[in-house]
Amino acid sequence: MKVASTPQPRARVLSMPEYHPPLGNRDTLRLDFNENTVACSPAVERAIRNMTAAELTRYPEREPVEALAAQQLDLAPEQVILTNGVDEAIHVLCQAFLDTGDELLLPVPTYTMYAIYASATDATLCTVQADSTLAFPFEALKAAITPRTKLIAIANPNSPTGSIATREQLITLAEAAPHAILLVDEAYFHFYGETVIDLIGKLPNLIVARTFSKAYGLAALRLGLLAGPVHLLRWTRRVLSPYSVNSVALTALTAALQDSAYIDWYVRQIKQARTEFLAALDTMGLQYWPTEANFVLVNIGTLHREFVSAMRDKAILVRDRSADPGCDGLVRITIGTPEQMHSAITTIQTFVRTYKLAGVVR
Ligand SMILES: *Cc1c(COP(=O)(O)O)cnc(C)c1O
Repeated sequence: MKVASTPQPRARVLSMPEYHPPLGNRDTLRLDFNENTVACSPAVERAIRNMTAAELTRYPEREPVEALAAQQLDLAPEQVILTNGVDEAIHVLCQAFLDTGDELLLPVPTYTMYAIYASATDATLCTVQADSTLAFPFEALKAAITPRTKLIAIANPNSPTGSIATREQLITLAEAAPHAILLVDEAYFHFYGETVIDLIGKLPNLIVARTFSKAYGLAALRLGLLAGPVHLLRWTRRVLSPYSVNSVALTALTAALQDSAYIDWYVRQIKQARTEFLAALDTMGLQYWPTEANFVLVNIGTLHREFVSAMRDKAILVRDRSADPGCDGLVRITIGTPEQMHSAITTIQTFVRTYKLAGVVR
């Protein structure tokens, strides 16, 4: 028997692309990841500083914090799972539910990690392309449901488009695919304000994800949450590490959940900056997509590379989404505070002026 010289991964892993998120550095304004652009609540910082070395010797216990999170969402503790970011939540859902022959149904463009984690399973990826308006492709998605559909993942608001699925549309999809899980990823909930989390348990196949990486400003600690009916979460718990959320993250989350005033303050800042930033884009004649999130997708056209690099020269990082399906020439810009966005506006104005003078734009 001929023996391979080195161990080979599963065929599905062999064909997976590598995911390399772009790196930044400390002295830039990061408008490329939709993170909180300021900080987490000062109460979180205090809670972490007050941790003792003894606490680090013990394995983390997520249950008390799950109970606190559940209580704030008006859910039972068994209806909530804390995860190492929503990314781990997506991973364990794929591991628990996607089998050979199953289909993951996705509107695209959307958040990258659904396809990445699904591609490591033996399921088939089925995508539904949004039309040129980039609106949520509700009818096409509904028509794409088959008896094999096992998971439908919808980011709401969606990234990078900012598009919205209405509550009625989500209910219709859940009811049209009772044999599938409808995952509604509410990563940008705080900036949007609408949720279907109140339907947990009422719609038997609905699971909602929330992250603490965006409004809460805790991306580094990796904290996410799944809310769903007990009969679905029990399978998910089987494949989840009991210790994937570490004690520092649990301590931080306890403090963060108790400081809702901080989130209210941060969201107010971002909404004000969003209004001002969109008005500035209008004035400059740049086309963008409607947004209820802390980012906006802007049409830069053929100059998208020059734009991203001109911003980087002024120490502002934005995200070129041109490689996403249907997104050629589109750049996603995170909305920070009003002050931060003023500096972004100045840089964009200079860019537009320079290229307008050169007769390249419009
Ligand atoms: C940013 C983002 C996430 C990130 O979740 P983590 O908790 O940081 O893993 C999940 N879903 C969507 C749609 C996002 O935009």
